[in-house]
Amino acid sequence: PPAEDPQVVVDAHGLPYLDARLPVKRRVADLVSRMTLAEKAGQMTQAERNALASQGDIASHALGSLLSGGGSVPTPNTPEAWARMVDAYQLRTRATRFQIPLIYGVDAVHGHNNVVGATIMPHNIGIGAGRDPELARRTGAVTAKEVRATGVPWDFAPCLCVTRDERWGRSYESFGEDPALVTAMATVIDGMQGRASGEDLDRNDKVLASAKHFVGDGGTAFGSSSTGSYTTDQGVTRVTREELEAVHLAPFAEAVRRGTGTVMPSYSSLDVIGDDAGPVKMHADAAMINGVLKGRMGFEGFVISDWQAIDQIPGDYPSDVRTSVNAGLDMIMVPTNYRDFTRILREEVTAGRISGARIDDAVSRILTQKFRLGLFEKPYADTTHLAEVGSPAHRAVAREAVAKSQVLLKNDGGVLPLKASQKVYVAGSNADDLGNQAGGWTISWQGSSGRITTGTTILEGMRRAAPDAEVTYSEDASADPAGHDVGVVVVGETPYAEGVGDVGNGHDLELSPADKAAVDKVCAAMRCAVLVVSGRPQLVGDRLGAVDALVASWLPGTEGEGVADVLYGRRPFTGQLPVTWPKSEAQLPLNVGDAVYDPQFPYGWGLTTLAKPVRGGESALKALAAGARALEAAGRGTSPAARKLVGTARLIVQQKMAGGITAASAKPFAEADRLLLRGEPSAAVGRLTAAYRAA
Ligand code: BGC
Repeated sequence: PPAEDPQVVVDAHGLPYLDARLPVKRRVADLVSRMTLAEKAGQMTQAERNALASQGDIASHALGSLLSGGGSVPTPNTPEAWARMVDAYQLRTRATRFQIPLIYGVDAVHGHNNVVGATIMPHNIGIGAGRDPELARRTGAVTAKEVRATGVPWDFAPCLCVTRDERWGRSYESFGEDPALVTAMATVIDGMQGRASGEDLDRNDKVLASAKHFVGDGGTAFGSSSTGSYTTDQGVTRVTREELEAVHLAPFAEAVRRGTGTVMPSYSSLDVIGDDAGPVKMHADAAMINGVLKGRMGFEGFVISDWQAIDQIPGDYPSDVRTSVNAGLDMIMVPTNYRDFTRILREEVTAGRISGARIDDAVSRILTQKFRLGLFEKPYADTTHLAEVGSPAHRAVAREAVAKSQVLLKNDGGVLPLKASQKVYVAGSNADDLGNQAGGWTISWQGSSGRITTGTTILEGMRRAAPDAEVTYSEDASADPAGHDVGVVVVGETPYAEGVGDVGNGHDLELSPADKAAVDKVCAAMRCAVLVVSGRPQLVGDRLGAVDALVASWLPGTEGEGVADVLYGRRPFTGQLPVTWPKSEAQLPLNVGDAVYDPQFPYGWGLTTLAKPVRGGESALKALAAGARALEAAGRGTSPAARKLVGTARLIVQQKMAGGITAASAKPFAEADRLLLRGEPSAAVGRLTAAYRAA
C-alpha cells in the first residue's frame, strides 16, 4: 500500500459513516446526508483511467469510480503493477472531504484476462457446453480471487445474454441459446461474490459482479438496427412480451436472486411486438430498468451504464444524461468526458429535471456496495493472494473447465480418444496459437493471435499428454502426410471481442480457405479429427462426410492441456452443444424449440467417451429413473449426482443409436437436457428411455 496509514486518517474523523460496527444502511444515510451535489455527482461518474487529464481530477471531481477498458493496462502488465496502479488512484481519494474510496472495475470475463500471466478460462460458450453449474461457480471464484488480489473489487461479468442468432459476434460471451442453461450458469455470481446477502464481499478473494447486458443483447435481429446499419451487435431486439420474459429476462431474475451487486444495461434497443413504443434504447428504458429490474425484480444494487452508451440515446447530451439517470441508471461509464458529465448532471438537478431524491437513491446504492466491499476500511489492495494469479491450482480449475467444455459432435469408428502409441499429424490455424484459443478480451480488448500470455496451446498440450508419441506439426499441412495413423486438424476463428456481426466486415461462419485446405488434405490422407476453435459454430457443410471426428472446442483459453485431456482419453468427452449447430447461415436464427428445425447438430448434442460402455439397456434405464426420482424427492434434482445419472442414460441411448443419429433422432437429447436443467432428472431419463425404445 502507499505510504499513508489509512486507518489513522479514517479514525480521525470519528463520524458515524466511518464506524464499521454500524449497519451499512446507517452508514450510507449518514454519509449521503453530509454530501454536496458535486460530491454526489462525482460518485455517479466512472472515468477511464487513460482519460484522466490528471490524477488530481480524482479528488477535484470527487470521482466515484475508474475503469480499465479492455487493454487499458499498466506497464509492466504484471499482477504487482496492477495492485500498485489501483492503489495510486485510491490514494488520491484521501485528498477529498469524506475520503470515499473509488470502486475500480475491469472486464474479467474469462479469468483476469487483462493481466499477463493470469488464468484464462474458457469463454462463456464453453462453460455453457460444460453443463456444470458447480464448476461455473468455481471458475467465478478463481477469477474473483485473482482480480481482487490485484486491488480490483469489481468485475463487469457475467454476461447473461441468451444468444439467438450466432451471427452476433458476442455469441461467445453467452452460455447458450436456451434461457434455462444461461440461468443455471448464473452460479458464477456465487463464485464471484459469495453469499447472496453480500456478507462475503469484504473478503480478499471476492468481487462485485455485474450481470450484463440488460436486456436482450443476445436477441438483436440481423439486418436491423436503430441506426439503420446492418448489424447484430448493438441492434434491435424485436420480441413478444412472452419471449422477452421467458428468454431474455429469466437469467436476470436469477442474477438478482443470487444478489448480483450491479447490472449493466445493453447497447441494444428493445422493440416489444404489440407495444406502440417502437425501439427504445435500453439505456433510456425506464419501464425495464426502473419498472422491471428495480421494481418487480427488487434489484437493490446499482446500475452501471455501458461504455459511452448514453451518447447513443437520441437527443443532445443533457437530454442523454437526464433520460438515462431518470430511467434508473445510477453510475455512468462516461468514460472520457467526465468533466462535462459531472457538470451537466449537476445542472440537470439544479434545474429540477432530475430530482434530488433520484440522485440520493443512486448515490446510496453505490455507497452501499462500497461499504459492503469493505473499501472504507481497506481501500488498498490486499495482496495476500497476489502470488496465486495464474497459479497451478487455478489453472487446474481452468483445465477441468476446458475438458468439460469439449463437445464431441461426431466420432465415426472411434477415432477419439487417440492412443499414445499413434503417430499423429497435426495441422490447422488454431493448433498452436494461444491468442486464437483465448479469443477476445484477452490482454487487449479485441484479443490477438500469438503468444500473448503464459499458457499451453492445444499442440503443446498434446505433446505433454503423450510425450512419447510421434507428432508431425504442419500448420498448412504442407508436410508429407504419409505414414501417420491419425490427423488432428485444429481450425477456427481469429480473435474479436465486439462489433462483429456487421454485414461484410469479414467475419462470417465460414472456415478460412487455408483451414478448409488443411482439412481436405489431411482428411483425404488419413483418418482424421477436426477441432473447431471458435466463439460460435462454424459451417462444416458437406465436408462433414470426409471428417471422422468433429469436436467443438470453443475458445478454451490458456489451458490447452484440457483439450489434450479429452483427446487422449484422460477424461471423457461430456460436453453438450450450448447452441444449435447450423448447416448454413441461411438457416439462422435457428434455436431449439423452433417449429422448423433441421440443424447439422441440434442443441444439447454431444457424444460421450467413457472408459467402458454402459451395459444393461432398458433395465439400466429403469434403475436410473428410480435413482433420479429419489434425488428429486430429496431436493437434489440439479445436483452433480443427478447430472451424472442423466449422462449415463444419455450414453446408453447413444450407444444403441451408434452411427445412425439424425437431427430428428437427436432431439430427445435436447429435451432431456432442458428437463435436467429445470431440476427434473426423472423426466429427463423418461424422455431418453422413450428415445431408446424408438431407436
Ligand atoms: C462492453 C461491455 C464492457 C465495457 C467496459 C463495452 O464496450 O459492451 O461489455 O463491460 O465495454 O469495458
